[in-house]
Amino acid sequence: GYHRLVKENRDLYNIVQDLKGNIRVYCRIRPVFNDEAGSIVDFIGQDDSLAISDPSKPQSEGRKIFNFNKVFGPTCSQNDIYADIQPLIRSVMDGYNVCIFAYGQTGSGKTHTMSCPSGGSSEEDMGISHLALNDLFRLSNMRKDDAEYEIQVHMVEIYNEQVRDLLAEDSANTKFEICSADGGSMSLSDATMHSVKSTADVIRLMKLGDDNRVISSSTALNDRSSRSHSILTVQVSGKEISGCTLQSCLHFVDLAGSSERVENPEEAMYINKSLSCLGDVITALAQKNSHIPYRNSKLTLLLQDSLSPGGRTKTLMFAHINPERDSFAETISTLKFAQRVSTDELGGARGNKECSEVMQLKEQVERLKEALGGNK
Ligand code: ADP
Ligand code: MG
Repeated sequence: GYHRLVKENRDLYNIVQDLKGNIRVYCRIRPVFNDEAGSIVDFIGQDDSLAISDPSKPQSEGRKIFNFNKVFGPTCSQNDIYADIQPLIRSVMDGYNVCIFAYGQTGSGKTHTMSCPSGGSSEEDMGISHLALNDLFRLSNMRKDDAEYEIQVHMVEIYNEQVRDLLAEDSANTKFEICSADGGSMSLSDATMHSVKSTADVIRLMKLGDDNRVISSSTALNDRSSRSHSILTVQVSGKEISGCTLQSCLHFVDLAGSSERVENPEEAMYINKSLSCLGDVITALAQKNSHIPYRNSKLTLLLQDSLSPGGRTKTLMFAHINPERDSFAETISTLKFAQRVSTDELGGARGNKECSEVMQLKEQVERLKEALGGNK
């Protein structure tokens, strides 16, 4: 009886999660660090919309409004973010494949959100991958009377459309080609898997993976890491006493910087191409198209199993923006990309449109009030 109740409860919970949509797009605004004029984000409405001002135009003209499933302002903490995505993470333990992408220009806070390597030592700055792992280990412990779980991780990098296993013995020289057998599906199963028992185990491995990124590059870590995608995969295998088994994956994808300022034209080409392929795949999924163009990039091929249509996959993209003035053009391009992929049915395109109309009306009222006040 108890087990059935727990299961029903979980099923119900997953249905509620599903209603929120399988593809969600969030925007996170980094704090301003060095711009005396302040932020180009001049309004955050109802936690799901924001307004950007073009610094080169008068305020009333250069204003653009964007809507997302959620907007996190510069004062939001890592824990605020995690609190919101916790149900999504927990659904991995119920057999869902979850992909979390960090998108944005270099310096906009992608790594901070995902893994925060510099602040990794301080508890409160832990990125969502650490918080998620803590949670997964805690959950698997809590359920240990009902099920047995094994958690494994691997980490790969995609640089100029070449995939590298960052946790292989001889990582610098270990490139593996994607085996696209018959239908072109491929898995990351060639990558070296490491069994892990705690978040600390994973942090150690991530450090190793990051070090391996440096060894093979001629430039500094920051430089190289901003021009390649990294994927940390957490694979959960479970066996419940009821006899059910589960196999699911959680991917943390720290994407290459979406900058138009990449100097090396070859690198820029690969970055732009793979990011736009990712956009195409997510848009095709959101629109429930019959053809999903996975094959156009290594990134989407590698993640194909976790990005396929149907009930067992969930995708979340964080669009990161740097709100400083000289990032205006890149911020707009990030927001446009994110807007393009956020056209899901539920709470998507239509809801967004209505919402932005209401917001524009509200602003108009504010402006009129101001004008009236000024005339008195
Ligand atoms: P990216 O990975 O997109 O290139 P980073 O995550 O490295 O960017 O962030 C650039 C700098 O900004 C880092 O020093 C990081 O600690 C800081 N930073 C980014 N986002 C935040 C935030 N939300 N709060 C505080 N500091 C942040
Ligand atoms: Mg980074």
